[in-house]
Order: sequence, then structure tokens, then C-alpha cells
Amino acid sequence: DNAIETRDLRKVYRGRRGTKVALDGVSLAVPRGSFFGLLGPNGAGKSTFINILAGLVIKSGGQACVWGRDIDRAPREAKAAIGVVPQELNLDPFFTPRELLEVQAGMYGVPKAERRTMEILEAVGLADKAEAYARTLSGGMRRRLLVAKAMVHNPPVLVLDEPTAGVDIELRQSLWAYVKQLNAAGTTIVLTTHYLEEAEELCDRIAIINHGRVVACEDKRTLLGRL
Ligand code: ADP
Ligand code: ADP
Repeated sequence: DNAIETRDLRKVYRGRRGTKVALDGVSLAVPRGSFFGLLGPNGAGKSTFINILAGLVIKSGGQACVWGRDIDRAPREAKAAIGVVPQELNLDPFFTPRELLEVQAGMYGVPKAERRTMEILEAVGLADKAEAYARTLSGGMRRRLLVAKAMVHNPPVLVLDEPTAGVDIELRQSLWAYVKQLNAAGTTIVLTTHYLEEAEELCDRIAIINHGRVVACEDKRTLLGRL
């Protein structure tokens, strides 16, 4: 079984300004345990793909499974198997990291006794900020808090959508180190990026998506050999 598997996934956005085909038949398999890169220019369809898997956008056609759970037939189970770190650094400014994680755990129905709030904050280096207001946190701290938030229900698959947009080099390095560590401990990681170097540095398998279509999907070394 794969961590993520899609078949002929399609998304058409319909709006006042007409229709936009964002995904035009995407078939992809992300192996369990892999560090998978979804690489493509702005507008390629990366966020749409991720948002469908996370249950945030409704697909127009095709099939998708997360950790063997079909998003149509078992939407709750599929959603529980994935954690998404969004692109935007939006956080409720008057919540503390501890409160944000507690609320998130509540939303996922994680029983109080099974919550690992402080352990997770420690893991992302925010234990000493547990009681600080989110608005006082730096960009890098917010990014790490969003990673923590995506982990509260302990999903086997963690997706990071353009995680280093607007993050300085130092924090990028520490974020990468942390995510690598998660992958080494068994979490399947999917990273979307429009930077080849980022995919190259981190991922063991890379898919290239453009205009809503997969144009390549290979092991990193095979792919780089051809570019
Ligand atoms: P990305 O950085 O992933 O390319 P975009 O800048 O394309 O994101 O989009 C940011 C947000 O705006 C997305 O959440 C998307 O849903 C929405 N959006 C993008 N393009 C359009 C559009 N043409 N019409 C309406 N909403 C859009
Ligand atoms: P990426 O994440 O690769 O930048 P997106 O999935 O955000 O790509 O966008 C794919 C295409 O769909 C783009 O042309 C974008 O403008 C369009 N799009 C995204 N969200 C919306 C939306 N909510 N309404 C209309 N068009 C959208």
C-alpha cells in the first residue's frame, strides 16, 4: 500500500470569471516512508492537490486514497491520516502555542490523556514559548508552530506546502533538519515547492507537475540525471 495514491484526479474551479482546470488527471503514488517532492511552478496545481487530500477542496473527478483510506468512502479516516502545514503563517494572534495545540487536538478528537502538547512543542523548539501569545512569535517560530499543529493527531503522512516561503536560511536549515528527523522516524513526508534545490536537498522521490498534469515522477537521482 502507498501513503497516498490518486487516479485521474481532476479539479475544475468554476467562478464568475469562468472555469479553470487546476488538476487535469493526476495519477500519483507516494510510497510509505518516503520523502516525496511535489515540484512545479506557481499555479501548477500543487496546493489544489494537497487540499483535496486534506479534505479542504472537493475534487471534480477521479479517486484518491490516503493511507489506504478512500477520501470518498472513508473521509474521516482519510483526513485523520494526514497533517498539513499550510503555506500561510496565519495563526490566531491571541492564542498561545499550548492553547492552539489543545484546540487542534480537540478538533481531531484526541483524548486528553493522549495529548502530547508539551512533547510536541519541545520537539519543534517552542517549549519555552508555550504560554506566549502567537502574535509575539517570529516567522520561523510560527512556521514551527504550524508544523506542531499538523502533528497533534500523530498522522502517518505530513504534508508541507511551500514550507520555506519567506523563511530565512538559518530557520530553513533547522526546519529541514526537524522534518528529516521525522522522516527518519517513519513519517511519510510530502513537500511542495517551486525550488528544485529544495526538492533536491530533501526528497528521495520527485514528481513534477505543470498545468495540472504530472510530467515526471521518478527517484531523485534518475530525475536529476535527466535534467
Ligand atoms: P499558491 O501560492 O499555491 O499558488 P495562489 O496564490 O494561487 O496560491 O492562491 C492563493 C489562494 O487563493 C488559494 O487558497 C486559492 O484557493 C485562491 N485562488 C487562487 N487563484 C484563484 C482564482 N483564480 N480565483 C479565486 N481564488 C483563487
Ligand atoms: P500551486 O499551488 O501549484 O501554485 P494552485 O493549486 O494554487 O497551484 O492553483 C492551480 C490553478 O488553479 C491556478 O491557476 C490557480 O489560479 C487556480 N485556482 C486555485 N484556487 C482557485 C480557486 N479557489 N478558484 C479559482 N481558481 C483557483
